[in-house]
Amino acid sequence: MDLTRLTAFQLRDLISSGKITAKETTKAYLDKITVTDKNINAYVFIDPEKTLKKATELDKKGNLNLKLAGLPIAIKDNICVKDEPTTCSSNILSGFKPPYDATVIELLEKNGAILLGKTNMDEFAFGSSCETSCYGVTKNPYDATRVPGGSSGGSAAAVGSEEALWALGSDTGGSIRQPASLCNVVGLKPTYGRVSRYGLIAFASSLDQIGPLTRDVKDAALLLEVLSGFDPKDSTSSEETVPEFSKKLTHEIKGIKIGVPEEYFSEGIDSKIKERIEFILGQLKKEGAKVERMNLPHTEYAISCYYIIAPSEASSNLARYDGVQYGLRVADNQLLKNVKNPMIRMYLATRSAGFGAEAKRRMLLGTYSLSSGYYEAYYLRAAKVRTLIKNDFQEAFKKYDCIISPTTPAAAFRIGEKTDPLQMYLSDIFTIPANLAGIPAISVSAGTTQNNLPIGIQIMADFFQEQKMLNTAYLIEKLQK
Ligand code: GLN
Repeated sequence: MDLTRLTAFQLRDLISSGKITAKETTKAYLDKITVTDKNINAYVFIDPEKTLKKATELDKKGNLNLKLAGLPIAIKDNICVKDEPTTCSSNILSGFKPPYDATVIELLEKNGAILLGKTNMDEFAFGSSCETSCYGVTKNPYDATRVPGGSSGGSAAAVGSEEALWALGSDTGGSIRQPASLCNVVGLKPTYGRVSRYGLIAFASSLDQIGPLTRDVKDAALLLEVLSGFDPKDSTSSEETVPEFSKKLTHEIKGIKIGVPEEYFSEGIDSKIKERIEFILGQLKKEGAKVERMNLPHTEYAISCYYIIAPSEASSNLARYDGVQYGLRVADNQLLKNVKNPMIRMYLATRSAGFGAEAKRRMLLGTYSLSSGYYEAYYLRAAKVRTLIKNDFQEAFKKYDCIISPTTPAAAFRIGEKTDPLQMYLSDIFTIPANLAGIPAISVSAGTTQNNLPIGIQIMADFFQEQKMLNTAYLIEKLQK
């Protein structure tokens, strides 16, 4: 039996009934990584010896009834794991080992999960292709000449290539859902505040959320229920009760109302993607859902609004990397010989060497839009537009249970194809609005394009209505089998 082909639920049954051990399961994944990751480059850090030791300990302690007992998981490289390299795939954090665990890591370990390693990402989660990583690009498991998406491309490719059972990613503007869609896996962004961000290295604090990338919807529901819940260490985390999502999953959606926003079927979207989404909407109608065209009128401003808000927050969050407290320090740089103060020279030399081009672009953009002369014209206006986008959703959810759209306008593009940053930014046109509004959203498989590249369908729901969203996704998944 190839253990790397099973779902978390299947593996859990085998482990808890003693048919296989946590060690065997972990070993199967580590072996798979050794063979496959040479071509995919999904992982940036693994420690097989330590990982196997943890699994062996779990087998010995016999605590195999924990929710995630013995289930190996891959972690995006922007989530802090105590004493393990955590670099956000950036040179500026090279050598950094956090002195503490993120809350999600504590929760995983408390529930018996085994950490497999850290996965590749766009530098500081800036990107949609994994091409801005200091470790080089990750390859799409369906076509190695193409990107896996981003920024959680390493996590999506690890699950898509069966080098991981499941993985954690983070989603600021689509970074879980977009790569999930491009790698044929399930990717879920929870409601803002549902999952603690403590120990997630911040990109844009008002948008970031950690979430699962999995083989199927049921596994996503299980991982979400483990990760969710109030955390006193994160002041934005919510006290909302956490349902046992996986137990409450149902294929029954009769009578639910689905809104389909016209604005998400604009020009420029791949015709096969459009066709597949229409086909699935037809299937849902047959199952008894009410499907209706509707409007989210401020959608067209989402990208512009996001590219003011996200870089503004990023420029502030990244100010802390100055060569003093974290990772890289470069003492000097010949080009800076006219700068008299040696401390300023060190700051400048470190930041010049440590950050890549996209990170620098975002910090420039963000610092500009927050500067006193431009704050009102840019940041403040973007914050107002964000409220309008959120209000569109609030209005819509008075009438609809779920909103359905494509996850991305196109399937995986070729490595190196998008040289213009604006073209890259458009990859997230359908995922960004959910982050601006703070609502949950999931991407599940919607089939493939003519040349067999995966495409995804996105389901969004109102604040904390993950169960409705999961149920719809669960049915869509079943209908595609
Ligand atoms: N691709 C988007 C960006 O570059 C979203 C990234 C993310 O969700 N982390 O900002």
